[in-house]
Amino acid sequence: MNEQQAKDVMTSMADDLGLALDKKKGTESLIRHRLIKMFETLTLNGWIAKPDFWCCNTCASHAIGEMVMHNTVAYVFWNCQDDIGLRECRAVYLKYAGNIITDKEAGNVLAEQLDRLRLGYDWDGDPAHAILVHEYLDPA
Ligand SMILES: [Zn+2]
Repeated sequence: MNEQQAKDVMTSMADDLGLALDKKKGTESLIRHRLIKMFETLTLNGWIAKPDFWCCNTCASHAIGEMVMHNTVAYVFWNCQDDIGLRECRAVYLKYAGNIITDKEAGNVLAEQLDRLRLGYDWDGDPAHAILVHEYLDPA
């Protein structure tokens, strides 16, 4: 085994341990935990990303519209009604829109991030539709 292979084994062991620890916390908090991590990453990359944001889409869209600046890449949020779904049904709709990038590109970025975090989702690739994040994908 060379050095790179040894590193790969260590990384994979750490991943397995992380997944095992996450599983003990339950699916709901696992989805929430990973989405919040994802939102932090997006924020660092010029997005406005808000979990559990305002009471409904109307209020959240209005509030986020006022936060968008000329240099905002895109935004994404889920609202407090969605948060009930996350707690009770372990599924949450992500609403998003592009600003510097297009709505479609914003949706694609979110889909890539969800893949990377091994979160399941339903999205038909249509930027007019919210992305439903609904499950945890077990490691193969
Ligand atoms: Zn409202």
